[in-house]
Amino acid sequence: MSNIAASCSKCGAAHVAELPQSVNVATDPELKEKVRSGELFTWTCPHCGTVNLLSVPFLYHDPSARLMLVLTTTPLGAEGLPEGYTGRQVRSVGDLMEKIKIFDAGLDDLIIEMCKFVTCQELKKDVALRFAGMDGADAEMTFTYPENGQMELVAVGFNVYEDCAGILRRNPQIRDSVQGLALIDQAWLSRYFR
Ligand SMILES: [Zn+2]
Repeated sequence: MSNIAASCSKCGAAHVAELPQSVNVATDPELKEKVRSGELFTWTCPHCGTVNLLSVPFLYHDPSARLMLVLTTTPLGAEGLPEGYTGRQVRSVGDLMEKIKIFDAGLDDLIIEMCKFVTCQELKKDVALRFAGMDGADAEMTFTYPENGQMELVAVGFNVYEDCAGILRRNPQIRDSVQGLALIDQAWLSRYFR
């Protein structure tokens, strides 16, 4: 546990939050749920009721999926990632929650970033899409994006995922370039697709 000094974004009241610095989801599934929902990183101001978000370094470790997600804004190297592991750096709690949803759904986040790119083109909108889930027998994916102060939903067929997976298979250098605790987002993808 570490103590994090914070202040309310609305009224400025000081607050000390006690927060674990990591979770091993195999040994602590309850804590995993709080990370996945974002609840772990929020605190409610006792003075004004505002729900505040803490942005602190955090390590998410899923041994069965051989997955490590590191939440930090500091650039990271490839060191320290065990053999055979997938490692990702994320820079916000929202990014961390999204990665957990992608990997929990058994999906590939490289392909998901390509799906977002394709979907933005289809929508003819330059918006920040987030993977929200996959449902039903036809594995339809749902993405969300903010627009005019609201959260919009867009459903994307699994055929888009399969098409993007095919593009990635035909361009193996893209996956080969992903090493260590990689930052996989739209900025990463823009090195290959514009
Ligand atoms: Zn407050």
